[in-house]
Amino acid sequence: MKKVLKLNVVINILVILVVFFATVIHLYSSMDALRTSLTNNYLESNHNYAIKLAEEVDYITDELQKRIITIANLSSSSDFRQQSNLDTLFYSENDHFNSIFFTDTNGVIQLISPSVINTPDNISVRAGTKIDSEIMKRALTEKKPFISEVYKTKSGTLFLLVTAPVFNEQREHIGVMVGTVYLEDQNAIKIALGTHGYDDGSYVFAVDKKGHIISHPNISRIYADISDNPIMKILKQGKSGFDKVTKGDKEYFAGYTTTKNLGWGIVSLTPASTINEPINDLLIKIVTRSLTTLIILLIIATFLVRSITKPLTELALYSEKSILNRKIDIGKDDINIQSHIYEINQLYRQVKSHLVMLKKEVQLDGLTGLANRRTFDEIIKDWINKRQSFSIIFLDIDNFKKVNDTYGHLVGDDVLRYLSATINNFSSEDDLSFRYGGEEFGILLKNKSEDEAYKIAEQLRRKIEQTASPTGKPITVSLGVTSLKEMDNHPKTIIERADYALYQSKKTGKNRTTLYKKQD
Ligand code: GH3
Ligand code: MG
Ligand code: MG
Repeated sequence: MKKVLKLNVVINILVILVVFFATVIHLYSSMDALRTSLTNNYLESNHNYAIKLAEEVDYITDELQKRIITIANLSSSSDFRQQSNLDTLFYSENDHFNSIFFTDTNGVIQLISPSVINTPDNISVRAGTKIDSEIMKRALTEKKPFISEVYKTKSGTLFLLVTAPVFNEQREHIGVMVGTVYLEDQNAIKIALGTHGYDDGSYVFAVDKKGHIISHPNISRIYADISDNPIMKILKQGKSGFDKVTKGDKEYFAGYTTTKNLGWGIVSLTPASTINEPINDLLIKIVTRSLTTLIILLIIATFLVRSITKPLTELALYSEKSILNRKIDIGKDDINIQSHIYEINQLYRQVKSHLVMLKKEVQLDGLTGLANRRTFDEIIKDWINKRQSFSIIFLDIDNFKKVNDTYGHLVGDDVLRYLSATINNFSSEDDLSFRYGGEEFGILLKNKSEDEAYKIAEQLRRKIEQTASPTGKPITVSLGVTSLKEMDNHPKTIIERADYALYQSKKTGKNRTTLYKKQD
């Protein structure tokens, strides 16, 4: 059997489904929009940050170069090329350079500040030390100011050299002025690149032209070769931009650019998981808001549903009761449904008119329109139970078979209808005239004694006897009369008496009325 659901359950399920799907769609689109906008924000801000850092690094390296050029220019005068002057300059520059030295054209240090340097590889460098590196050779042959690539000492320290050629007052090349910068020591470059990470996991790293990491919050990554990294390939082309990148199993929003001076790549990264928190906040906000909406909608739906279901339930109960009782007391036990819903009013009207029709079919005799046998049985039983005083007339058409035989059944039916109308005229509003079956009829006379009933029966008999029936001639009827006695507890006894009286009328010549008399 198909599962039957109650209307309010169905509507509430509908409301829940609608709110649920609306919420899911709203959630999905809101979160998607937020995710896209946050992603773009992070990508752009990382890109902007990388650009800003690159500009800063360019500015600082320009400054470093300018300073060394200035010192080199000052050193053209032999008067100036003094240890004390270099020391003065060095100490005023020491937040930029780890050391400044001047070599002759053979690369032999002439002046150095501070006067002795212990390099990270534990080599003592001082005046007289010959610097025999490729970079020195380049500086001496090129005779142009430049900043070197980033080098790594044997002990792992990253450094770069800022060089400028030194010419004497006669414009002769007499050597090179060099400033050293250890990238991991406290200096302007390190400060600019800010090698610390951020709370949300964001960080910045820098790579040199060759793809070696030269700045990274994780010291173990310093000087790692990432030239194979896809970002490196883009940076090598000098491109600037942003993208989502995956490192290990983590996704990042990356912004990148290259510095103009040295071609370093600067990459600023924020973990993609950073945007989960605002998205989760939004999720919670939308879900709680939807829950409130759901509750409000359910309350409204409950009221609406009640206004629909109440009249429908009444109607359903009413018709169920009517059918089960096989008794439709329209008027007496009536319901009056007034709904704001058009369909319910229509349904109510239809059901009611159908029930009225059904009532007629159930209670009335189809041919004559008088109460039928079922109605008679119910009413007599009811009256006996209520001890309602009444009399009863039973009547039977005399020789009706002959009417049928002579005039046909259709005329016979007309005769039955004509007789019913006559009988009905002889009964008052409180009485019940009925067709008992075939050509047998009767009247239940409320609050009438048997004598009164007898009189009415005789009047009826005479009226019929004197009136032309549909056959063109009068018919006659035989009648039996009795009334409710104290001993009658069941319709059977009273019906038997009326029947007996009727039989007496037939036996004694028909067309007469017999009042039942107690037999001795
Ligand atoms: P009696 O005087 O002894 O009552 O004789 P009767 O011919 O009236 O009685 P009987 O019981 O022999 O016949 C009754 C007839 O009534 C038989 C039946 O065909 C007829 N009849 C019963 N119901 C209807 C009906 O609905 N329409 C028609 N046309 N005839 C009916
Ligand atoms: Mg009969
Ligand atoms: Mg008869």
